[in-house]
Amino acid sequence: MQKLEQIYEGKAKRVYNTNDPDYCIVSYKDDATAFNGLKRGTIVGKGVINNRMSNSMMLLLEEKGVPTHFVEELNERETLVRRVSIIPLEVIVRNIAAGSFSRRYGVAEGVVFNEPTVEFSYKNDALGDPLLNDDHALALGLATREEMELIRTYALRIDGIMQGFWDECGITLVDFKLEFGRLPDGTIILADEISPDTCRLWDTATGQKLDKDRFRRDLGSVEEAYAEIMRRLLEHEEQ
Ligand code: UDP
Repeated sequence: MQKLEQIYEGKAKRVYNTNDPDYCIVSYKDDATAFNGLKRGTIVGKGVINNRMSNSMMLLLEEKGVPTHFVEELNERETLVRRVSIIPLEVIVRNIAAGSFSRRYGVAEGVVFNEPTVEFSYKNDALGDPLLNDDHALALGLATREEMELIRTYALRIDGIMQGFWDECGITLVDFKLEFGRLPDGTIILADEISPDTCRLWDTATGQKLDKDRFRRDLGSVEEAYAEIMRRLLEHEEQ
C-alpha cells in the first residue's frame, strides 16, 4: 500500500490517504494536549508507545470478536487502518471514579464501581464535548437506537477484555475513551486509538498513575510512565 497525501492532522495523529480508498495510514505524534487544547506539550516517545499499545489492544479485541479498524503495523509510528466515517461520539467506560466523573458527581477518585458505567459525549471541540444520552444522539442524528445499543455492547465487551489483559500486567484499568466508525456498508467498527492518552492506567501495587494524567496534572515522570506501560505490554507479549 502506498502512502499518499495527508488528509487530516489531529492533536496526536496525522492521517494519510493510500492508493486504496478503503484504507488510510495513521501516524502517531509525540504532541500532547489537554483541556481541549489549552495545555500543550511533547511527550518524547509517546507516538511509538501509543501506536504499539493501540495495535496490541485492537489485535486482542479482534481475536475476541470485536471488529476494529486495525489492519497492519507499518513501522514504529505508522499503522494501516480501514477507512471509516467516525461517529462523533466519545464513548467512555469507567470501572473506578476519576477525572470528570469525580468532579461532576463529587465522588472521590478511586471509588470502585459495582459494575462498569458507559457514558457518551458529543465529540465537538467548539462545544467542549458535552455529555449526551441515547435520545440526544438520536435527536442529533448521530446514530440509531440499535447502533447506540451495539456501541454500548461493544464498549462493555472491550472493557472486560482489556481489564483481563491489564490485570495480568499488574495494571488497573480505571477508565478509557473509545471512538467508533462506519464502513461504507454501514458496519460499525472500533476506530481511533487505545493508549495511555485515552485510558487511565494505575499500577495495581502502588496506585501510581501511568497515563496522560501525569501530563494533565503536572505530576512529572511523564515519559517514564508511558515507558513503563510499554514495558509491561512487551513483557506480557513475551509470555
Ligand atoms: N478521554 C480521552 N479524550 C477526551 C476525554 C477523555 O481520551 O477527550 C479519556 C481519558 O483519558 C480518561 C477517560 O477518557 O481515560 C475519562 O475521561 P474523563 O471524562 O474523566 O475526562 P478528564 O478527566 O480527562 O477531563
